[in-house]
Amino acid sequence: MVDASEPKTALITGSTSGIGLAIAKRYAEAGYRVAVHGIETPDKAADALAEVAAVARHEPAYFSANLSNDAQSTALAKAVIEDFGGIDILVNNAGIQKVAPIDEFDPVDFSRIVAISLDSTFLTIRAALPGMKARGWGRIVNIASAHGLRASPFKAPYVATKHAVVGLTKSVALEVAEQGITCNAICPGYVWTPLVAAQVADQARVHEMSEEDVVKKVMLAPQPTRRFVQPDEIAEMAYYLTGDMARSITGTTISIDGGWTAK
Ligand code: NAD
Repeated sequence: MVDASEPKTALITGSTSGIGLAIAKRYAEAGYRVAVHGIETPDKAADALAEVAAVARHEPAYFSANLSNDAQSTALAKAVIEDFGGIDILVNNAGIQKVAPIDEFDPVDFSRIVAISLDSTFLTIRAALPGMKARGWGRIVNIASAHGLRASPFKAPYVATKHAVVGLTKSVALEVAEQGITCNAICPGYVWTPLVAAQVADQARVHEMSEEDVVKKVMLAPQPTRRFVQPDEIAEMAYYLTGDMARSITGTTISIDGGWTAK
């Protein structure tokens, strides 16, 4: 059903897959106009865009950008502002993972992880805030991780980056607290997505165990519930944070980790 009223707009980075795709669908279903983003070409992202469009009340659009490049991060936010008339809700979700001992970590991979998750989060917030301030309303949700609060071996750049995203979240929240804008970080534990599936083999290598043991002993062992979180569970929280009843929730981390960080 097409809704003729002027919708609020939402940019979700990394929304062609996994957690971001679930958030994009939840917002589209709720009536927001959604900017779907990924590193993929429009052709490769067509299925994801179609999934979002299938539940949307306002036509979503796809934006391709490589967020390991600073200029592309800023250009992405500017393109959405130009095409949609502004960004009311910004979800910084794009991220990658690489598992290796620190003394073998390729510096190029280290920089790429930092650029995609931290630099791009700073740059998109920087570009979106003036419009949010002018409208006196905005919601920023950064998808950090349980690894923004706790460390694990063999993931040093990821852990460092996610801790930094938590710090950035708090600082932004304090700066804009009186202007109707909130900024929070969601910290998921292990969520079964392509990002997690792809790291099972690497984890098996560095931990010298079978892939089955990686799932049981490395991934699910820290989660007292002993099951993967589902992308929809993260999407529902991201949706809650956009509502008026969440207007006093700012500068905080919300763990959805099956009890991991209670320990
Ligand atoms: P995913 O691999 O399913 O999706 C990653 C998304 O990021 C895709 O849309 C992809 O296009 C985009 N992306 C990848 N590289 C990019 C680049 N260079 N430039 C622009 N976009 C790029 O991942 P996911 O598991 O859904 O993870 C999403 C976020 O949630 C990440 O920030 C991740 O760190 C975080 N997270 C995931 C888990 C988990 O267990 N899956 C746990 C905690 C936090």
